[in-house]
Amino acid sequence: MRYIAKMNVIECSFLTSAMQRALLLLSLIFIISNCSQPQKNKVGGIAISFDDRFVKEWTALRPIFQKYNAKFTFYITQPDSLSQDEVQLLHKLRKDGHEVGCHGAMHVRSMNYIWENSLQEYMENEIFKALRTMKKQGFVPKTFAHPGGSQTWYSDRELLKYFGLLRDVSMKHRNIFGFEYTRQVEDISEIYCQRNASQKVNALLIDTSAKLTIEDIKEGLQRAVKEGSVMMMFGHKPLTKTTHKPDEYGFDVAFLEQILVESAKLNLRTFTMQECASMQ
Ligand SMILES: [Zn+2]
Repeated sequence: MRYIAKMNVIECSFLTSAMQRALLLLSLIFIISNCSQPQKNKVGGIAISFDDRFVKEWTALRPIFQKYNAKFTFYITQPDSLSQDEVQLLHKLRKDGHEVGCHGAMHVRSMNYIWENSLQEYMENEIFKALRTMKKQGFVPKTFAHPGGSQTWYSDRELLKYFGLLRDVSMKHRNIFGFEYTRQVEDISEIYCQRNASQKVNALLIDTSAKLTIEDIKEGLQRAVKEGSVMMMFGHKPLTKTTHKPDEYGFDVAFLEQILVESAKLNLRTFTMQECASMQ
């Protein structure tokens, strides 16, 4: 870029001052527009969050988290039902550098709840109640994950007064009114946290029900590398082949580890959701 600017200055010496100014302005525009393109020094990453209340099961994965120096976000729902032990475990995770976020006091789908009640009741019963309980437990959540991926623009507007980032849900395969709709992971733009983008983001479901392969993930990670963005994913309960019961919803621990291996190969670091929020 310095070379281009220099060239223009030399050429300008043969021209009138007005033309010189015009050329310098054009050079500047060129340099600025060039700077807005993805740059090699932008560090891309992944941000994985885990939802609900599987505190003991998440804590059991600490050796994996430490092995990959990975920082995650744990979105807690119904915090008033956590035992003292679980609260202590969450503090331990936070001390390790993970984030503890809010996932509602009741875990209701906001759209339905507001329709049947009111926005004020939703804020009081789902949000403020959760924040009060979590504050007593020693947590001050900065980001929020929508239960059931349900949101409305007017509840989001209210939520953004209390949280720096709202996380919704994305899936590779989706069934909309009976039609199966599939996208390539790298084409799901809303799961990439970009600099100076929206405070409303989505994360890709990595639970076994999402039927993702490691090839899907690898393809998605390539986009994060290319544009220096952060690819967001989320899951629920950690499952292993031996412990997985048919009625359980969650992600395969081996799959999570594969994601971490592939990210490390590409030098993608892990981000908490709060760190994603601070990119905005
Ligand atoms: Zn949930």
